[in-house]
Amino acid sequence: MSHDVIIVGGGIIGTATAYSLARRGHKVLVMDQVAIPNPQGSSDDHARVFRLAHGKDSFYADLAARTIPLWKEHERAFGEEFLTQNGVLDLAAGDGRREEASYKTLSDMRLRVERLTPQQVVERYRMMRLRCCKFAVFHPDGGMVWAKRAIEAFSRHILRNRGHLEPGVKIVKVLKDKGKVTALKDSKGKFWRAEHYVFCPGAWTREVLEDYGIPVDITRQECLYLRPPRNQGRYRPTHFPVFAFDKLGMHGFPVHIHGFLKVGFHRKGPSNRQPVMPLVPDRKFEGQSRRFLKDFVPDLADFSEQEGRVYYYTRTADGDFLLDTLPGVDNAWLAAAFAGDGPMFAPLVGQTMSQLVSGEKPAVNLHRFRVSRLRLRPKKA
Ligand SMILES: Cc1cc2nc3c(=O)[nH]c(=O)nc-3n(C[C@H](O)[C@H](O)[C@H](O)COP(=O)(O)OP(=O)(O)OC[C@H]3O[C@@H](n4cnc5c(N)ncnc54)[C@H](O)[C@@H]3O)c2cc1C
Repeated sequence: MSHDVIIVGGGIIGTATAYSLARRGHKVLVMDQVAIPNPQGSSDDHARVFRLAHGKDSFYADLAARTIPLWKEHERAFGEEFLTQNGVLDLAAGDGRREEASYKTLSDMRLRVERLTPQQVVERYRMMRLRCCKFAVFHPDGGMVWAKRAIEAFSRHILRNRGHLEPGVKIVKVLKDKGKVTALKDSKGKFWRAEHYVFCPGAWTREVLEDYGIPVDITRQECLYLRPPRNQGRYRPTHFPVFAFDKLGMHGFPVHIHGFLKVGFHRKGPSNRQPVMPLVPDRKFEGQSRRFLKDFVPDLADFSEQEGRVYYYTRTADGDFLLDTLPGVDNAWLAAAFAGDGPMFAPLVGQTMSQLVSGEKPAVNLHRFRVSRLRLRPKKA
């Protein structure tokens, strides 16, 4: 079995990259140490936020705006919805500097955005009570990305187009010679070879690319799926936005899976060297979620059916992604460190990686994503 490109990591970034390469006629192989998607990976969730608002950072706002047509193109190709644009509501406390900056940036870019008083929010979303909110910024083109559904669709396309998926293959060594990666060795001693390699290993980036010393931080992030105790219909995406309160680092979703909605913590959690199992949140997180809901959607705060989950953020010190060639080789690339913003950008990242592998000039300016901006800490021989 020969392949043009081996992709290490079957999360949303790896499968979006493989999908984009397969569409260009490349014969791809996607391997994952567990499954595709891996239930321990960061992409193994039904819905993730799609946001255009990134404070004053117009670069990411522009990338997000450019990703919308790509999601729409994939929706047409697969006949499935991947992006639900039910809007994102950012609730501001104090001077609301970040939310104010988001409002200004999106307005300057002529993207749709509204600045709302708490009263206007409550008129629109009658279930909300905005105790400590000074104002809110709403962008209607944001919403939710259906991450797991997209991975499944990308995987189907890969299989139909001469590609292969190899779950249960753990790469333990990357071999190189004369400026090229020559093979990957798996944990059973088998060697895998292709012309090109793309590494999309999420929270295992440091481990699999140990010889390169890629400095990323892995942080433990908690979330809770809960069933609204009453009036479930009011919390569907047609009636309810994604909402976030940055001051507490908390965000919430509409009901999106078997009658459950999700709340999560998005500020930087505690660091680990690599994901630690089991992926179960601390009991304290339930109380934190109730307090958050009590302030903003009190009807939801007395939930009794819930299930917790931990995911891992992978981030660089400056928070920007890594989309680049691997240092010192010209046939291997890295797409990693998406922190809290991977799935929303997946089609754009997939397109960019496939342009890099195909030797084309990428449509995205990659200056902020270079590996060379970081101080590498390669393992000493
Ligand atoms: C709590 C939380 C909330 C988030 N919310 C959002 C959000 O709202 N919006 C958004 O866009 N993003 C969000 N993110 C970020 C997003 O989930 C991640 O950035 C994204 O899922 C990363 O995808 P990935 O494909 O890079 O990694 P993963 O999905 O983790 O995939 C990496 C894969 O590589 C495999 N792998 C690793 N090492 C090896 C090896 N040696 N051999 C073989 N396979 C290997 C792993 O098994 C894994 O399956 C959130 C993240 C967290 C933690």
